[in-house]
Amino acid sequence: MSDKKNSTPLTPLVGMTLDELQEVALALELPKFTAKQLAQWIYVKRVSTFEEMLNISKAGRERLAAKYCVGLYPPKDKVVSQDGTVKYLFDAGDNMAVETVYIPEDDRATLCISSQRGCRMNCYFCMTGRQGYHGNLTAHQIINQVLSVPQSEQLTNVVFMGMGEPLDNIEEVLKVIDILTQSWGLAWSPKRVTVSTVGKLPELKVLAENTSVHIAVSVHNAHPEERDSLMPIERVCHIKDVMELLGQYDFAHQRRLSVEYIMWQWFNDDIRHAELLRELLPNEHVRVNLIRYHMIPEVAKLRTSSDERMTYFRDYLNAHGVTCTIRRSRGEDIMAACGMLAGKVKQPKAKAEKKA
Ligand code: SF4
Repeated sequence: MSDKKNSTPLTPLVGMTLDELQEVALALELPKFTAKQLAQWIYVKRVSTFEEMLNISKAGRERLAAKYCVGLYPPKDKVVSQDGTVKYLFDAGDNMAVETVYIPEDDRATLCISSQRGCRMNCYFCMTGRQGYHGNLTAHQIINQVLSVPQSEQLTNVVFMGMGEPLDNIEEVLKVIDILTQSWGLAWSPKRVTVSTVGKLPELKVLAENTSVHIAVSVHNAHPEERDSLMPIERVCHIKDVMELLGQYDFAHQRRLSVEYIMWQWFNDDIRHAELLRELLPNEHVRVNLIRYHMIPEVAKLRTSSDERMTYFRDYLNAHGVTCTIRRSRGEDIMAACGMLAGKVKQPKAKAEKKA
């Protein structure tokens, strides 16, 4: 890129919303419509240099290149699973990396993206949580994962289920949702985007009211004290309040609300738990996804439920009016499955953790 000639750091345009691109145009005394042209070149035509932006004047391109770069950057590493899942490693600054998982499946191609370096939610069963929190990703670093995987043009869905709690970085996540769904950006239907959360209030309300994306809540145990022993968020944001809040929104039509439920032997897989879960759901429109637990050495205490228990749990819920399925596991052999993302680059020691 010609913009590398400049010795001062260049600001990336990828990750900017239309309003932010308008501020750039204004500051450089370029016509206001330059912002839309930039969005078109970056998010629709996916160019990586200003030279390619031929409907912007040469002088305008030079002014842009003096201060900004497009800012796309490729993954630094990848590992491919036997089942076709690919785990990419993206540089996240300070010698750290985040993981992005591409999951091809029949007629779908899903990208699971990260929103933070590590995570401060500290869920007991999660490799990411065990790393501690090392900072938020910027909108630039998040949307770059979508735009820079080799399969970018084939993606049908994006899920915020990678490293980090998306609602702990809500401002940047909302910008990325705008870029994905607004007409000046990728213009995807919000139905193609799912945000997964442990249920962080009040940010969940902001997400529910300001977007139409699907929401997935990690419940994992409907009993408050038992959930608290795995997920410290329960101490400050009770899952009962989370589900009550979500019961106020329309998930009966285009928008989907799902509950994620990892199954552990003897911990959350008996009929008492199925009944508690059923009682927790605000209405019949919530879908439950049962997830097989992937053993990680650090959490030897938890063991995965047997197939028989999972099937029994699912059938019980189905028989009691709850739509419940067992989610197929992907990428376990490359540590890309749920709860296994840790980043391959050695991570610095965690900063002092704030309470969720
Ligand atoms: S499960 Fe999600 S919220 Fe919990 S520690 Fe892991 S990344 Fe964070």
